[in-house]
Amino acid sequence: MREVLLVRFGEVHLKGLNRPYFLKMLVNDIKKALADSGARVWLAEGRIYVADAEDMALCAERVSKVFGVYSVSPAIEMEKELEPILQQAAEMMKDVSGSFKVLCRRSDKRFPLNSQQLAVEAGARILAKNPSLTVDVHKPQTEMWIEIRDHAYLCNKEIMAVGGLPMGTAGKALLLLSGGIDSPVAGYQIMRRGVNCQAIHFASPPYTSQFAQDKVLQLAHIVGQYEYGMRVHVVPFTEIQMAIHEKCEDGLGTVIMRRFMMRIADRVAKAQGCQAIITGESIGQVASQTMEALMCTELMTELPVFRPLIGMDKLEIIRIAERIGTYETSILPYEDCCTVFTPRHPVTKPRADKVAQEEAKLDIDALVERAMQGITTQVV
Ligand code: ATP
Ligand code: MG
Repeated sequence: MREVLLVRFGEVHLKGLNRPYFLKMLVNDIKKALADSGARVWLAEGRIYVADAEDMALCAERVSKVFGVYSVSPAIEMEKELEPILQQAAEMMKDVSGSFKVLCRRSDKRFPLNSQQLAVEAGARILAKNPSLTVDVHKPQTEMWIEIRDHAYLCNKEIMAVGGLPMGTAGKALLLLSGGIDSPVAGYQIMRRGVNCQAIHFASPPYTSQFAQDKVLQLAHIVGQYEYGMRVHVVPFTEIQMAIHEKCEDGLGTVIMRRFMMRIADRVAKAQGCQAIITGESIGQVASQTMEALMCTELMTELPVFRPLIGMDKLEIIRIAERIGTYETSILPYEDCCTVFTPRHPVTKPRADKVAQEEAKLDIDALVERAMQGITTQVV
């Protein structure tokens, strides 16, 4: 008898002919997540199993954070002998209160009882040993699962996991990562769909401090854990911001700055083989996130721009940030480059032709080229 984890995967089921590929990626990701735990991970009969680690609770917690995993159940694996199975089922329901139901599945037809008979026997034994419990076959508070496969497996707990798709199965994208609350959440949402993310950050020293930059690296480190390290490109942005501030109409400063970010992101994304750009924008949140402003920035790239937060309220975004552990870091009070030269009265409905005309006062290509030359890249 030993403790194992039964790992269920959600959408990987839907992947038709690609299924073996998705499952292989998922098993590898789980192995990576448990690399230092001594655990054995294997795939059998359409399910992933984990066993033999010293700290199985820690393994369950880690596996529940692997993209593609739908839920994890700590279970007991034992020999297929009726009496010990009934005893174990009763034992596992000892600390449970309220109503329950026994669910059985017998894939080894040589086992003497069929699923229905086993459920009845186990239910009776559980009640006999735990008289305060009641049976409810429709809406039980606890489900006791007994499966008869190569061994017998018993479990009555299900830990919900992050879901999504295995990392890297959906390609690569570049995340515009600020030090704020939104962009790390945006990155997480897209990574969860199996997309490997790199980050690009625009820094304006000395107007933005080293603390601000470290905070961004820390955020990249937190969301990057899902892909075992994130590549971060830091772009020197001071010269561009100064030039915009000096030469362009104040009210268009923010949208012009965003267009420069998008131009540079477009070049970095293509050089890195990324197929999309991700931002943390949400409609109407600030002046630069009106539909008109979003269109003006989007014109600077032919790559698809993913904005997973576009229809979300700030409070919903904050809730996710808290859950994924980025919120505390995001609210540290360091200046972002966007706040350095904020126009007093930003134009909320910029017209693309007017913006382009204003920008033409700058040597755009030279500014972009110099910023590109100054990029530093690291993995955090
Ligand atoms: P966030 O909380 O992500 O900073 P925000 O609500 O502060 O978002 P903005 O400052 O308008 O909104 O930024 C909108 C988006 O532009 C951000 O979500 C991010 O994707 C990108 N962005 C803004 N500033 C930077 C920066 N310094 N470096 C990289 N990307 C940035
Ligand atoms: Mg911001």
